[in-house]
Amino acid sequence: MSITSDETTRTHDAHGRLNEFYGVQAIYGRADPMHELIGTILSHRTTHANEVTAYRTMRERFPTWEAVRDAPLPDLIDAIRTANYPEVKAPYIQNLLAHLIRETGAANIDFLRDMSTTEAMQWLTNLPGIGPKTATLLLLFNFHKPVLPVDTHVHRVTQRLGLIGPNVSAEKAHAILLARLPPDAVVLFNFHKHFYWHGQRVCTWYNPKCSDCVLRDRCVYYQSGGQMKLSSTPMRKRV
Ligand code: SF4
Repeated sequence: MSITSDETTRTHDAHGRLNEFYGVQAIYGRADPMHELIGTILSHRTTHANEVTAYRTMRERFPTWEAVRDAPLPDLIDAIRTANYPEVKAPYIQNLLAHLIRETGAANIDFLRDMSTTEAMQWLTNLPGIGPKTATLLLLFNFHKPVLPVDTHVHRVTQRLGLIGPNVSAEKAHAILLARLPPDAVVLFNFHKHFYWHGQRVCTWYNPKCSDCVLRDRCVYYQSGGQMKLSSTPMRKRV
């Protein structure tokens, strides 16, 4: 992967502006790594409120992880039905728990804290149904490892700004952006949070609020009048 100083400078510039706009945060996450792991699966294409309801209902009906693993599939699907795609997520969760308990003897991933970042990433992404987004969210939020989660919001905003190429996937963006940033968990947490918030609140999928955006003068998507073809974004008439 080649890194030009211009790309690094533009990445740092956008990061600095969003730090000023949103304010630098200390790292926070769910206290229980297993909650983060399963909650992240439930959260895929689901609002936060619906994810919380799905998780709470699942834990009320099946209070232990062994009970979740062994639940009749239709019952687990029903318990998490407020999350989108429950019929896909329920078997994912059961496979994951079965694998975890078989391999380690318990539904507990606290041992990741003592692994190197590379080892922990490898271990997590070898689990069934766990990709780089879930693995990096868990490792950064719960274990403060220096990784960079790139979800749909981070992907869209960095692509519109031209920090990554128009066809770069979210999976590839993890490594590209990470290579330009210091290996510091607090910096990476703020980069993730701020681009995530910006994508949710300002640089939205449809009708981005460019007139309110502190990044407008550096944004290639804005300068193109919304006419850039990006893998993360539908074509717009004019922004
Ligand atoms: S100027 Fe518009 S398209 Fe560019 S980052 Fe800001 S909100 Fe997004």
